[in-house]
Amino acid sequence: MIVLMQFGSTAEQVQSVCDAIKSTGLEPLVMPGELVAVGIPSAIPPEIRDSLDAALGSLPGVSRVQHVSRPYKLASMEWQRSRTIVDVKGVQIGEGTFTVLGGPCSVESYEQFSAAAKMVKASGSKVLRGGAFKPRTSPYAFQGLAEEGLKIMEQVGKEEGLVTVSEVMSGEAVPLVAKYIDILQIGARSMQNFPLLIEAGRSMKPVFLKRGPSATIDEFLLAAEYVLSQGNPNVILCERGILPIDRSYTRNTLDLAAVLVLKEHSHLPVVVDPSHGTGVARYVGAMAKAALIAGADGVMIEMHPNPKSALSDGSQALNPDQFAALMKELQTLAAFAGAKM
Ligand code: PEP
Ligand code: MN
Repeated sequence: MIVLMQFGSTAEQVQSVCDAIKSTGLEPLVMPGELVAVGIPSAIPPEIRDSLDAALGSLPGVSRVQHVSRPYKLASMEWQRSRTIVDVKGVQIGEGTFTVLGGPCSVESYEQFSAAAKMVKASGSKVLRGGAFKPRTSPYAFQGLAEEGLKIMEQVGKEEGLVTVSEVMSGEAVPLVAKYIDILQIGARSMQNFPLLIEAGRSMKPVFLKRGPSATIDEFLLAAEYVLSQGNPNVILCERGILPIDRSYTRNTLDLAAVLVLKEHSHLPVVVDPSHGTGVARYVGAMAKAALIAGADGVMIEMHPNPKSALSDGSQALNPDQFAALMKELQTLAAFAGAKM
């Protein structure tokens, strides 16, 4: 339920709407904007729905009470009918474009990262990915270069004129990562780290939010809602595969239908990550092309100057030739689909 306030409604009137909602045991969420609205993010018990609707509708300053059929509000198509296009230093991510975010899983050294960046750029990609803080299943696996990795990313991004994206794993680390990096990635394992979502929202930096391996669509969009509800409209959704029933062939099950579902119910840009989605380099290209045809606004692709020597995710990384060849195919398909690359 969303209570839309009239133009010029007062803070007291908004407060009395909040109080009326609280008196039923529900939590109000004030959504600031040109037109202030008070949402109720949780499900409303059917027995109080009609009386609450009438009570709120009669309060001073209220324009109308609207029912939203989905648990997320700000992320929904019902809330915003125009599609969000996230602009990062002039690179537009969203409807009408197809963006490739390429680069290695981890930043390993200046030499490795710079070589990768040159290849990413030469292939026509505008966004450079790399991990400095790595969420690894084992504490003994390579954990990333931390701040040193961020510094390398910033330097290389500037040298090549590429926008950068890198993962941040905790709310406390948001200012550090935001200092060096253009887009904050929230990894699949952190999708429901609520303090992190809130801090990323507050930073006002573009947020690249990956779907948790076992997250439903509602949970995914509610995670996006956390960022949006901090007043940060720059959220990019990323489908990166969900838990497979059989791990012996692919790392995850890439849910390409999620692109269609997300685009139907949300105005946010949707990007697909076929690298983590399959975990197998030779499957990445076909799934990237399928994502484009399914209507995704971009793909995130892991590539490494020498995949065999990669400190993380080498088996799913494309080598430079494979990456360049895939970029050419994507450019042909994007032209066919009417998306600018
Ligand atoms: C990554 O992008 O390197 C990564 C760790 O991704 P995910 O969170 O999707 O596993
Ligand atoms: Mn990776």
